[in-house]
Order: sequence, then C-alpha cells, then structure tokens
Amino acid sequence: MAAVITAVAGAGLAVIAHLSGWQIGASEAGGVLPEAEPVTVFSQVCDPTAAQSVPVQRTVTYGVETLGGVSQDTESFARGLGLILTNRCGWARAGISFERSEDAPEMFLVLASPAEVEAAAEGCSAEYSCRVQERVLINDVRWTEATEPWQRAGLSLGGYRHMVVNHEVGHFLGFDHTGCPAEGQPAPLMQQQSKSLDGCTFNPWPLEEEITLAAGRAG
Ligand SMILES: [Zn+2]
Repeated sequence: MAAVITAVAGAGLAVIAHLSGWQIGASEAGGVLPEAEPVTVFSQVCDPTAAQSVPVQRTVTYGVETLGGVSQDTESFARGLGLILTNRCGWARAGISFERSEDAPEMFLVLASPAEVEAAAEGCSAEYSCRVQERVLINDVRWTEATEPWQRAGLSLGGYRHMVVNHEVGHFLGFDHTGCPAEGQPAPLMQQQSKSLDGCTFNPWPLEEEITLAAGRAG
C-alpha cells in the first residue's frame, strides 16, 4: 500500500484520498501507524518526506497509560504515539521533541475508555478526547473509529490518530481552540475538527502560524 501511495504523491488530493480508503486505515488498528498515508493525503499542509528536521528548542517528557477497558495495551499505544510525536510535520516542526519518561513526566498520554474520559473532568464527554491539565486523554472509540465525517471523507485511521494526538498535545502546549479561517482552507490543527469543519478541510498537522507560535514559546 505504501508503494502505491508514494507513486501518486504528486497527484491531486481527491485521487489520493480515494486510494487511502477507510478499510486500509482500519486494518492498521493493531497499533502500527501507516506513516505514508497521512503524509501524502495531507501534503498540501506539510510533506513529512520532504520536511527538514528542526533543531530542538524544548523537550517535553511524557508518560503513557491506559485507563478502563481499551483496545490496546500500553506498549502498543506507546509505539503509535512514538510515530506521531516524532513526525517532522507535527510539533517537531516547531523545535519541540517528546521523550517518554517514567520519572515524573510533564505530560501523560492516556488511552481511555469513553466512560473514563467523561468522568475525568467537567466539560469532557464520552464522545471525544479531552485534556485535563497534564493529562491528555485519548478516547478509545475515536482512536479505533475516528469520526463518521472523517470516515466518509475516505481518510485513514492513521491520519485521524495524528490529528487527535497533535490537537490534544496542542492544548498541553497552551493552545486554545481556533476556527476555520476561510472556506476550502485546511483546518487549523486547533480547530475542533471532530465536531465541525465549518467549510475547512481535515488536517492533522499544525499550520505555519501554529508552528510559529509554538516555536516562539519553546525558544
Ligand atoms: Zn480541543
């Protein structure tokens, strides 16, 4: 699959989205992220195969946990997170690196059942993921199914995983929600894409403005 995607990397977005059908993404639910899919499908924002590595300005240490009845064990979840957090189109592009640590980490990434997400804090719901102070709770139903609009758009599960982790980590980095700037534009990472696109297109990567802001804070 990766070879096919690479071969059409220069083609139009519609063609690529069609090739990276939902079933292909869903077959990756074991925890290995299909790196090539989000890379090519969303390359109008950033192409990780071409992105330069950026000098590290800040290292965030993180712990990995699971909570409640979830689809993956901690180590499988951690492997997926490692791929997301080191991707050159993610927050790494702002000079932020992430290091797993068991010694009082700054942030916890938690794969949680819907009931546990809802119980975590007021304002969290069983429907979505939620960040509560230093704890980033990834809703297991979203982790395994993405959302209906995401599926309907023919986008991969791997792409959704990048989006949801990068978005929730964005909250940890101090970002609030933003809206769609204009019809047809890629959604800012910090837009609530799981709820509404408002005319924007799905996007798992921080936009240039978000990178600049994050880099300013990290430096
Ligand atoms: Zn949010």
